[in-house]
Amino acid sequence: MWCDDEKCKDCLLLPICMGGCPLHRIKNKKEAANFNLCSARKDNLNKFLEYHYGKRKMQNSTTTPTLV
Ligand code: SF4
Repeated sequence: MWCDDEKCKDCLLLPICMGGCPLHRIKNKKEAANFNLCSARKDNLNKFLEYHYGKRKMQNSTTTPTLV
């Protein structure tokens, strides 16, 4: 579980990621698999935030009525 993972406890993305896929976490532990549990957002957070900001800005510009 993520609560046993020191890396997750200190991670900014924990509330979003919640420690990644539980099945992959179990396979890593029980079958010595090597799944990357981290969200893709972790290493690209700025790019994701810029993308979502741009997308939201575009949505708002098309849905907000213009004042004449
Ligand atoms: S991104 Fe990685 S370190 Fe952070 S909560 Fe998810 S699995 Fe844990």
